[in-house]
Amino acid sequence: MGGNRRFVEDKSIRPRQGRSTLIGSEKGQKPFAIIVGCSDSRVPNEIVFDQGVGDLFIVRTAGQVMAAASYGSIEYALAVLGSKLVVVMGHQACGAVDAAIKRPDVPGHIVTLVNSIKPAAQKAKAMGGNLLENAIRQNVIDQVMELRDLDPILSKKYQKGDILIVGAVYQLSTGKVEFLPETLSNLPDFRASSK
Ligand SMILES: [Zn+2]
Repeated sequence: MGGNRRFVEDKSIRPRQGRSTLIGSEKGQKPFAIIVGCSDSRVPNEIVFDQGVGDLFIVRTAGQVMAAASYGSIEYALAVLGSKLVVVMGHQACGAVDAAIKRPDVPGHIVTLVNSIKPAAQKAKAMGGNLLENAIRQNVIDQVMELRDLDPILSKKYQKGDILIVGAVYQLSTGKVEFLPETLSNLPDFRASSK
């Protein structure tokens, strides 16, 4: 959150991005956070959080839709690399969420994305206010809940308070990451130092 504040204020320090950071980096990694984000070219995670080499383990698909390979990647970072935080991050004007609302005919595997986001789009249609914005937030909330319930690794670690799983939405126009209050309340007692 501090890194994003720097980015928004145009005071990025671009940490751990020089050549000296690369020396020895082949020996291992210990990313402190996992970002499950959208592939959108306007959401470059290290830049918007002002982080560097080795800081973030990132899983990106359009609409941050997840399937088995995503789950395995997240589990690997948590169970093997020791990451403690999972951030599911949607963003303003997400084309994948927009498609799940409008449901155009889409070719090839794109339909997989639309189908996965459809339930969130349906819930958003029952809400007042901006349909796309609500669907983007609901999609993130649904994905956070999906990960909290994911057996066998995430659900156990989450309930024990070994890890945090939260949701956020990135504003393209301002660069600001808003963490969603719906995913910050009623958290299990988090023990950052525990294994
Ligand atoms: Zn997107």
